[in-house]
Amino acid sequence: MQTNATKVRETGEGRMVRGTIVRLRRRCGKAQCRCADGEPHESWVLSYSLKGRTHMVPVQDEALSTLRRELSRYRAKLAALERQALNGIAYWRRRRT
Ligand SMILES: [Zn+2]
Repeated sequence: MQTNATKVRETGEGRMVRGTIVRLRRRCGKAQCRCADGEPHESWVLSYSLKGRTHMVPVQDEALSTLRRELSRYRAKLAALERQALNGIAYWRRRRT
């Protein structure tokens, strides 16, 4: 039987991701490149923080919608967890024993 982690790894089903999608725009520095006096190169990355540092992972354009879904899955779970924790606080505020 597959573990849940294995299934997520293989199919992406239920996968969640923390971070934000950031558009990078930069000039590559080559004098002959079209970006030298025109539009800079554009690319997308997943930006996330870990132990106080920011990291970036390149994301292909065609994968952006999948990644957006996975980011929103994380936000939804986080919001649900926060609601549960606030309910827990409310319980201790009501409790008078
Ligand atoms: Zn260039």
